[in-house]
Amino acid sequence: MTESQQHANNLDSWSGSYAVRAETLAVSEVRALFSVVSRPEVVSLAGGMPYVAALPNELLQKSYEGMMAKRGLLAMQYGGGQGDPVLRDQIRELMALEGISSSIEDIVITTGSQHGLDLLSGLFLDEGDVVLAEGPSYVGALGIFNHYEAHVEHVYTDSDGMSPEALEEAIERMKKAGRTIKFLYLVTNFANPSGVTLSAERRPRILEICRRHHILVVEDNPYGLLYFDKPVPDALRSMDEEGVVYLGSFSKILVPGFRIGYVLAPPAIRDKMVLANESAILCPSSFGQMMISEYLSNADWKGQIDTFRGVYRERRDAALDAMAEYLPNLETTRPDGGFYLWVTLPEGIDSKAMLPLAVKELVAYTPGTAFYGDGTGHNKLRVCYSYPTPENIKIGIKRLANVINLQTELLETFTKKAH
Ligand code: PMP
Repeated sequence: MTESQQHANNLDSWSGSYAVRAETLAVSEVRALFSVVSRPEVVSLAGGMPYVAALPNELLQKSYEGMMAKRGLLAMQYGGGQGDPVLRDQIRELMALEGISSSIEDIVITTGSQHGLDLLSGLFLDEGDVVLAEGPSYVGALGIFNHYEAHVEHVYTDSDGMSPEALEEAIERMKKAGRTIKFLYLVTNFANPSGVTLSAERRPRILEICRRHHILVVEDNPYGLLYFDKPVPDALRSMDEEGVVYLGSFSKILVPGFRIGYVLAPPAIRDKMVLANESAILCPSSFGQMMISEYLSNADWKGQIDTFRGVYRERRDAALDAMAEYLPNLETTRPDGGFYLWVTLPEGIDSKAMLPLAVKELVAYTPGTAFYGDGTGHNKLRVCYSYPTPENIKIGIKRLANVINLQTELLETFTKKAH
């Protein structure tokens, strides 16, 4: 707890009234960074922000005018709890790009996919339930699972995604220990934070294991269309309609500002998701949904996704080139899409302890421990290359190298002395 949080707590006359659950709400390691790293002199490789400036203003301006002329009053009004049917139909087309065939009946619009994940977790997770997840896994999902007091069991993940053998082993181990596994949570493409994609060969194997053990699969896929060279393998949902809940989002392929995401779920789960959505928010933003719907009808949205791909490919290249130039001895993932590199530091260097030194050198990243529920990941860090310019990425990684090299030298000196 920071000093100012402690101070706020001391002043809080309601501190004895909160639900026990409220204690799980910690400031995320990513959030805590935002105030420092938003200073212009700091190169932030930390927060996973899309480069929204690559979207021409006129495109949204035209969508706004078109939408207001056609559905202006509806856009200002409450809508259905499941979301706008016109947009749901367009989402079917979007998902078809990853091999998914679906009915608009089975799609629920949410306030970003973060909200979908929260609703789903509220439906499934009781205290002590197990969620299986990649190691490392998305920090925002871990925060939700923690809030519902679930235990996250990380499953070994390599450059081809989650290992089916390790998954089978983790399931057996959890079952033997008498634990209840509620679902497997996967970011299948260009994962946050690892940048890794689950290989085509492993996809049916993961599904087969989950089917055999009756474990629901939650497929979170906000980055799949942001591939650099070749499209990603077909979605898990395209191979299993009953056993997979699929989460999608407009945050990365358009903008996060509308806060619109979607869930495709088997009918029984879908019904509960609609009720949960209505209970939490009555309905998703009509304005946001209709803006996106108009944009999908009239703008060259596929061309715009190509533009985003080009921007992020150039930045990925800048990040990898800078890593090769300034930190050639460090292991890093090589993503084929998305926003992130996952870097392994020499054993003994703690990326969280190193962060204030890095910020002093005017560069920021996200420490590896943020992406594990079990406190591991000390010698890992996430580099997000989506937001800074290629020039700044290079400068940032050069600064990072200065900090890491100094830490490595210090570590070597101390280890020598200790011998
Ligand atoms: N899942 C993953 C893997 C993410 O990286 C993010 C955003 N960083 C989300 C879900 C949430 O996205 P949104 O709520 O903006 O749709």
